[in-house]
Amino acid sequence: MKSLEQLAEIINEVVKRVREETLSFEVEASGRHIHLSREAIDRLFGEGHQLTKVKDLSQPGQFVCQERITISGPKGLFKNVVILGPERKNSQVEVSLTDARELGIRVPIRESGNIEDTPGIVLMNGDKVLHLDKGLIVAKRHIHMTPEDARKNQVENGQIVKVKINSERALIFDDVVVRVSPKFATYMHIDYDEANACGLNKGDRGAII
Ligand SMILES: [Zn+2]
Repeated sequence: MKSLEQLAEIINEVVKRVREETLSFEVEASGRHIHLSREAIDRLFGEGHQLTKVKDLSQPGQFVCQERITISGPKGLFKNVVILGPERKNSQVEVSLTDARELGIRVPIRESGNIEDTPGIVLMNGDKVLHLDKGLIVAKRHIHMTPEDARKNQVENGQIVKVKINSERALIFDDVVVRVSPKFATYMHIDYDEANACGLNKGDRGAII
């Protein structure tokens, strides 16, 4: 016979696991990438150029473009960096902290779109060069959530949560920002440094704890 305490412990564990299972979401790793403004596209690809979609991303309306460019810092550069569409109001370059070291630039961790007082970087497409004066960030790890999933998870837009990644090398990430919008599909986004830290494989899921 198990004691009442032991039974209560088992029930708690089961509830916790069911919760984690039903409220879990897929975790995706984002490699270094670029969002370009209309002005930047004109400069790098020619006036009026339209970005060419090659693949849809999990977030509705977001896509991978065929166009690639080079990003260059004082210590190093990366060629063939992917551009994600559609075009945005402001250009933004997202790299990992490992990339930042290679570029030789101190890059702050920011939420996407929050680019005030961030460093710039040089963008190159062949002989076309554009010096961005700001917009280089390491993206703060985040969960895109539909309002419905936010309600189920009892979280609000902007809330900071802890997420357990149920991967080969399971890991709990703190300081994860929840972003809620009816335009989103529910997915967590981390960069390659973070994905490697938890041995992420495609399809791995995470849950708020
Ligand atoms: Zn994202």
